[in-house]
Amino acid sequence: MTTIDVSIAMTEDQDWMGEGACKGLTHLFFPTAAERPQARERREDAAQAICDSCHVRVNCMDFARENHEYGFWGGESEDQRHAAGYRLIAPIGVRARAS
Ligand code: SF4
Repeated sequence: MTTIDVSIAMTEDQDWMGEGACKGLTHLFFPTAAERPQARERREDAAQAICDSCHVRVNCMDFARENHEYGFWGGESEDQRHAAGYRLIAPIGVRARAS
């Protein structure tokens, strides 16, 4: 049986992850449990401002769309990715009820 080592290719494809302007700011990009809508809006506005200045934004947005990520990636929220046709694998909250 032939095995393929994909770890090197994946690492090279994802080098951009180490260059994100969000390094150390995870709390702005992923919600806390039971986050209120107003708090989410404020958090995502702050994340958006950081993404707007990030030079790997396109890589990040493409990655999140293709991998159906949760959280705020590449200047897009889960809702924005969902609306663009990149649906979450396991919808939660409003999206789950609307499906
Ligand atoms: S685009 Fe936004 S989420 Fe993506 S790496 Fe840059 S700052 Fe982080």
